[in-house]
Amino acid sequence: MTIATPPYDDVLDRYDPVLGLETHVELGTVTKLFCGCSTVFGAEPNTQVCPVCLGLPGSLPVTNGTAIDYTVRIGLALHCRIAEWCRFARKNYFYPDMPKNYQVSQYDEPLCIDGYLDVDVDGDEFRIEIERVHLEEDTGKSMHVGGSTGRIHGATHSLVDYNRAGIPLVEIVTKPIAGTGHRAAAVAKAYVTELRDLLRGLGVSDVRMEQGSLRCDVNVSLMPKGATAYGTRSETKNVNSLRSVERAVRYEVERQGARLDGGERVVQETRHFHEDSGTTSPGRSKEEAQDYRYFPEPDLVPLAPAPDWVAQLEASLPEPPSVARRRFATEHGFSDLELTQMTNAGVVDLVRETIAAGAAPGKARGWWLGYLVGRANDAGVEAASLAITPAQIARVGALEDDGTLTNKLARQVVEAVLAGEGEPDAVIEAHGWKVAGEDELVAAVDAAIAASPDIAAKVRDGNQGALGPLVGAVMKATGGSADAKRARELLLERLAGG
Ligand SMILES: [Zn+2]
Repeated sequence: MTIATPPYDDVLDRYDPVLGLETHVELGTVTKLFCGCSTVFGAEPNTQVCPVCLGLPGSLPVTNGTAIDYTVRIGLALHCRIAEWCRFARKNYFYPDMPKNYQVSQYDEPLCIDGYLDVDVDGDEFRIEIERVHLEEDTGKSMHVGGSTGRIHGATHSLVDYNRAGIPLVEIVTKPIAGTGHRAAAVAKAYVTELRDLLRGLGVSDVRMEQGSLRCDVNVSLMPKGATAYGTRSETKNVNSLRSVERAVRYEVERQGARLDGGERVVQETRHFHEDSGTTSPGRSKEEAQDYRYFPEPDLVPLAPAPDWVAQLEASLPEPPSVARRRFATEHGFSDLELTQMTNAGVVDLVRETIAAGAAPGKARGWWLGYLVGRANDAGVEAASLAITPAQIARVGALEDDGTLTNKLARQVVEAVLAGEGEPDAVIEAHGWKVAGEDELVAAVDAAIAASPDIAAKVRDGNQGALGPLVGAVMKATGGSADAKRARELLLERLAGG
């Protein structure tokens, strides 16, 4: 049965949303969590494996100290308390891409507990409370072959790649996030964005969502306005872009609102997010903790981070992204509003890099916020995923500044770079896109005056309003490459001169 989906805002007039976000971060260590295998992305399948990460009998794990270091740094940056003593646990379940049939994770003794992250949404601050940050090993990856969707349904066979098995993975779990109202989707996106920037600043992960090194499970439930008991939640798994986090929340709010309005119950289950349609569909029903038969991992020694070592790590933390952004805005003269706009559009880093590549701050902001964000929205991607780099934008800006390009030509060049035609200078060369030189312009101006003596006479008589057709003729003669303002000046000069 199909239920008409009411719009997001309509649902949130009647229901209060409660969110929960579980974010998985692949740490950027050189080797895996319990063995010396490489963690480099994109290698031939099953070339970065050994007896430990393949779970062969008799092999014994040894914990990677850098992974502990990184996890503690993440916990400290999120204002967590660091456990003085904790253990890994075995999470038992069968999955073809998990060769040991259990995952080494943390259960009731996470390394970092009770923190928070403040996020800004259109000038209002929301405090997102963190329940825990724990360390675990990633699984391998199954590839389902022979079907059209890449999913197991319709596939003829499956292949498994264990290169990812054993890569250290940090899971950051929020407490339930209530009180966001209509801004639930924006808060979810802002939280993941802020978390990504914080992790990047710490240097603990490359945080590439499109490669899966940062991925998010999005929990959503609704309760009637004024109620205090949370509704039943759904958990949308492995959402892997910032835009999709927002869309997943919106879709689940609308889907659950329609069910509740229709007198139906929301089922507690995991769901898949579909990038193409922005919808979710049911996955498996949700396991409970007891289904996993957790027990302490007997092959690993407990973790006991020394307090003075933790204090040293705390003292070495970089400035938080919110502070870095504010400093960046002050340095380059951006207003609060401009900073908020750039933050919301996810282009602060791009503007920063464009300035670093030589562009004036206003020009860098103008290109990203005033033009490229729109192009990214049209394409349904993040601005950072566009096929143009800050250095290329800085180059186009420099060519505008020195008069080689008009604004119109600059946009044409940017479009050509986006279309994969190469570097700005090569594009300009290939198309012959250059602002008309002064000599060419003077010739076009004289020709335009000679061709329309009656209009020229009117202008000479003081009727400047008659100048339009002459400017048009100059633009036409130069194939639109003339600077219109300069053409106007020259026409007036020549006409005044005789
Ligand atoms: Zn290994």
